[in-house]
Amino acid sequence: ARPSPFLEPTSRTAPNTLAIISLSKEHYQPITLQESIGAVDGYAEGVTLNTRFGSFPHSTLLDIPWGSQVRASVVDTGSRGRKRRRDQVEDEETPTSNQDDGNDTPTSAPAKKAIAASSGFIYVLRPTPELWTSSLPHRTQVVYTPDYSYVLQRIRARPGTRIIEAGAGSGSFTHASARAVYSGYPGSDADARGKVFSFEFHEPRFEKMDAEIKQHSLQGIVQVTHRDVYDEGFLINGKSPKASAVFLDLPAPWEALHHLARRKTLKGGKLDENPGDWDSPLDPNKSAYICTFSPCIEQVTRTVTELRTLGWTDIDMVEIAHRRFNVIRDRAGVNIPSEKGFSAQPADVAEAVKKLKSDLKRTQDFHKAQTSQPVSDTSESKMDVDESTPESNTGDSNKNEDPLWLQGRLVHRTENDLKTHTSYLVFAILPREWDEAAEEAALAKWPCGG
Ligand code: SAM
Repeated sequence: ARPSPFLEPTSRTAPNTLAIISLSKEHYQPITLQESIGAVDGYAEGVTLNTRFGSFPHSTLLDIPWGSQVRASVVDTGSRGRKRRRDQVEDEETPTSNQDDGNDTPTSAPAKKAIAASSGFIYVLRPTPELWTSSLPHRTQVVYTPDYSYVLQRIRARPGTRIIEAGAGSGSFTHASARAVYSGYPGSDADARGKVFSFEFHEPRFEKMDAEIKQHSLQGIVQVTHRDVYDEGFLINGKSPKASAVFLDLPAPWEALHHLARRKTLKGGKLDENPGDWDSPLDPNKSAYICTFSPCIEQVTRTVTELRTLGWTDIDMVEIAHRRFNVIRDRAGVNIPSEKGFSAQPADVAEAVKKLKSDLKRTQDFHKAQTSQPVSDTSESKMDVDESTPESNTGDSNKNEDPLWLQGRLVHRTENDLKTHTSYLVFAILPREWDEAAEEAALAKWPCGG
């Protein structure tokens, strides 16, 4: 099987692989790169990615370093060959439009559209779980990066870990956990490679997930099973997946917990008198770490009750409140008198600075004359400043530039579009079972004393 782009990065793009296209800072689109079909003498451009920033024939996106910026095709897309485009990608300077933030959303005017189409650009990014989370087709609510990063470290997911996950939903958590448990470096033991056992009871979602896992070459790490885990639990063909980590993103996690016991247990915590050849889905030689993900506190209460009843310990609940801070210098925050108001136009600012400097000099001269005391330091970096600019005394103002206090107040704003689904995370540990034989084995391995 081909190596997964999520697990074994290559340095350049290639046909039939997933690429994440960055259209702007917050807008990503997954595509499968395709070789041109029916290309004539290398000049027909074949499959094309059409965006509001212009058209990008796949031929221009192939065999370039991941992370490359690619400019939109000019109108006559048939006139350029693949080689020429590739040279352009590698040689060209950064386009002059919107370099800092990526493409701006063009306004409705047709003229702007035309400009965007000819001067727009995209970045071709190598797939990562984070980018997949930002671009995947949503079939359900998904777990976002701030939550899954925390969850994965709390449930001790690391190379070699075997994780049970239900439900699979849109596969956001699945991709992140696959990378966390993967340890397929050369020479690694297949049994120690780590695995994600993912369960989904909604058939169309299961089918889509299964197809996606294969498209992303993750089938060696992720096994998706179509199953109602409340009724049927977590065994795979009657065998234990020997998991030591569990993540449940289900409407009623407490309904599934009795299947995650060490002995066959009925709902409510009573041991099943007739276990038959039932096996625990948990690794008998390791403690099991669980996280359940629920939006309502009532779900948390029911989950915690069931966890306690079933013997789980160290139960606690966490809510991740993720905020992204946008820190900027806000020139409008500084009182710059100008005929044109508080504009941040460089010409206005330069004029305002000149006026302020001359006002300052006049004030200093006045005080000098009044007190006949020399002003101790008139350098810009020591000027008295508005106390609401706390960074102004840090001494890092550059004499060749505007004094820091004139560069604007340092302000921060939280971004409103929080891409994290607020849920409560319940964590718990089920210690491994211990008996006389385990004690003897431990003593034989690590004898105490002499
Ligand atoms: N964690 C997923 C992600 O990051 O993309 C999203 C999971 S989604 C919120 C919950 C999923 O659980 C749904 O796809 C639903 O079909 C599935 N589900 C609900 N009850 C289930 C059950 N009893 N057995 C298996 N899957 C179930």
